[in-house]
Amino acid sequence: MLHLAETFYSIQGEGLLAGVPSFFIRFTGCNLRCVWCDTPYTSWKPEGEKRSLEDVLAEVQAQACGYVVVTGGEPMIHPEVVTLCARLKQAGQHITIETNGTVFRELACDLMSISPKLRNSTPWKRAQGRWAAAHEQARWRPDIVQQLMAHYPYQLKFVVADPADLEEIRALAAEVKADPRRVLLMPEGRSSKTLRERTWIASACREYGYRYGPRLHVHLWGDRRGI
Ligand code: SF4
Repeated sequence: MLHLAETFYSIQGEGLLAGVPSFFIRFTGCNLRCVWCDTPYTSWKPEGEKRSLEDVLAEVQAQACGYVVVTGGEPMIHPEVVTLCARLKQAGQHITIETNGTVFRELACDLMSISPKLRNSTPWKRAQGRWAAAHEQARWRPDIVQQLMAHYPYQLKFVVADPADLEEIRALAAEVKADPRRVLLMPEGRSSKTLRERTWIASACREYGYRYGPRLHVHLWGDRRGI
């Protein structure tokens, strides 16, 4: 059984495959608590239901789009993700896994989308700060990130909220020896207006050779669930 928050068919809004019609399988539950989490129904207040593997695979096959995004929450905390990915691969699907880069598993994956969390994610002032220390300690695991980068085709995707984040990103990317062409800077924000205002992120990409990471789904549909 898979503990899922939702499944849906949409367009990948983020990363190297932005724009590709994809089927999303979203696990519920996360080992982090980002203050700005855009899927709080998988972290701060996890929701969802147990679904059988066969049921989910049938839904994937019915869409026949060929691209599956396994996301969360944090999908890699679920042991069942290994069997899910093996069956998706058998069925000929291209698999992207979206992970915060704190857990390693050996599994079938065509693109490991690693999104390590910066200092700006730590919830010092949320929920009386009771998650802050655990989050701060767990959010950056260079050993795990390097293991994921060595095992899988990868992209390293950072959510950027403030110009001060850039120095931290450069230090983290250098620490794990990431290829700059695989590093994506993605603006934090839940509206098109906020995203458009952060043009300094595009300037940083020009300067450092990183990629600009769009958030197509926000531009197209705004901050809505299941799209
Ligand atoms: S790692 Fe992702 S799902 Fe988990 S709290 Fe942070 S943004 Fe939310």
